[in-house]
Amino acid sequence: MWRKKLLWTTLSSALRRALPSTSRFSINSIHVTQFSTAFSSTRSFHSEEDPRVFPIQRYWFLGNLKFSGKNFCSERVLPRCWNCDAVPQVVPFLFCDSCRSIQPVDRAVDYFQIFGLEKKYYIDDRNLEGRYKDWQKKLHPDLVHSKSEKERGYAAEQSARVIDAYRTLTNPLSRAIYILKLEGVDVDEEETVSDIELLAEILEIREAVEEATDSQALNKIQAQIQEKLAYWSESFASAFQSRKYEEALSSIQRMTYYRRVNEEIVKKL
Ligand SMILES: [Zn+2]
Repeated sequence: MWRKKLLWTTLSSALRRALPSTSRFSINSIHVTQFSTAFSSTRSFHSEEDPRVFPIQRYWFLGNLKFSGKNFCSERVLPRCWNCDAVPQVVPFLFCDSCRSIQPVDRAVDYFQIFGLEKKYYIDDRNLEGRYKDWQKKLHPDLVHSKSEKERGYAAEQSARVIDAYRTLTNPLSRAIYILKLEGVDVDEEETVSDIELLAEILEIREAVEEATDSQALNKIQAQIQEKLAYWSESFASAFQSRKYEEALSSIQRMTYYRRVNEEIVKKL
């Protein structure tokens, strides 16, 4: 299956010689927000695409914490229920337990907080599906079809966001990209790779996929891809933990390529 390895090794050496050293993979697109700037600023970005910056007074808004008013940070202006003006008893406040109305989306609440998870790469996902279903039972647009247009709009937005949060956190690659964004590091998923060895390896695997004639052969390749994904996922976790963001991005880039190959295999299976 890997019989073309020698050919690729030769090719990759030849290509590397032909290319200037600066054209090898480098993270030019890395954009790290200065934390001092981000967190001292009172600006608030409420864009879904740019969840990395949010007001500091909202930063401690963690998990499904039950709280009493006196324990709550005084800087935080609590969003009261738009309908009955009740003060939330549980955070995140997506749904008012007093009047059972759905609240507008609060972009300061990140995906980890929606599910009461600690913001770290390896998540405890034992209860994640259950929590996701619980939210959908409260937020699903069908449940508010008889309510006002405003609340139907909130339901549509909240429900879509919870779905996105669930999908993002349950996929190791999406979760890696998202958690890095929360740290202020942008990931350009379309960035072209110039790591010749990685490109050669990917081409080699793709050829093997094309040449595979039965599902047994495809399963074998898929198992190898899964191993690589697991390896680079671990590598990401370690780099992220030690705040080595360039290494973290490099791991993400590899995971992206392996995931694409995996998708090709799934299509063919
Ligand atoms: Zn209410």
